[in-house]
Amino acid sequence: MTFRATILTLYPEMFPGHLTFSLAGKALERGQWSLDAVQIRDFAEDRHRTVDDTPAGGGAGMVLKPDILAKAIDSVSENDSRPRLLMSPRGKPLTQERVRELAGGDGVVIVCGRFEGVDQRVIDARNLEEVSIGDYVLSGGEPAALTLLDAVVRVLPGVMGNALSGTHESFENGLLEHPQYTRPQMFEGREIPAVLTSGNHAAIEKWRLEESRRLTLERRPDLIPGHPVTK
Ligand code: SAM
Repeated sequence: MTFRATILTLYPEMFPGHLTFSLAGKALERGQWSLDAVQIRDFAEDRHRTVDDTPAGGGAGMVLKPDILAKAIDSVSENDSRPRLLMSPRGKPLTQERVRELAGGDGVVIVCGRFEGVDQRVIDARNLEEVSIGDYVLSGGEPAALTLLDAVVRVLPGVMGNALSGTHESFENGLLEHPQYTRPQMFEGREIPAVLTSGNHAAIEKWRLEESRRLTLERRPDLIPGHPVTK
């Protein structure tokens, strides 16, 4: 089954962007996922193709109009059970767990905001799930949508060569990944930790788990509560 991504945007030419490279690009070529970028402006009704208007109550910037956006959403997702996401700094932070859930479905419809954002009524009326990629403000939802898709596509079945390589990574088990090393054995006076070249697989696993716990406690203690290692 092909995972279908439909993007609603004022800048369709920004897609597929970096997703034509590497794993995602190969998977796109192989037809493991598809991408369709739809121009929101095509649903405007006036001759200037207006999609935004001033914020009710005053203030800076412009707001995407609900009627135009609703028509754009309906054109791609009526009778369609794919989740409808709105990229938004106000949204729930994207997690690897949500990424895996999305990858398990048929696809996604993603609305990319611009200006000051989107009229609340279309968010409510079309049941848009607001998703944030971090606590900072981008100038538009497109880089956020590309980021989300990058994360989802790489965990689609058959996209990663080694099926195991996704499951040991940061966030997959509630921890950050342990440090990685490769040859040469000595780099500018720094050696690969001896345990990693010992051939003792149990000791290597133990070292990796301890390093994961150490890094997580040091950098992201907020990740720890749900994890069994805290018990
Ligand atoms: N006025 C909005 C606020 O303060 O929450 C910010 C609007 S931002 C300039 C324009 C668009 O960029 C948003 O509608 C959203 O689609 C996108 N965007 C910005 N930051 C984002 C983030 N951290 N995660 C996801 N989307 C983001």
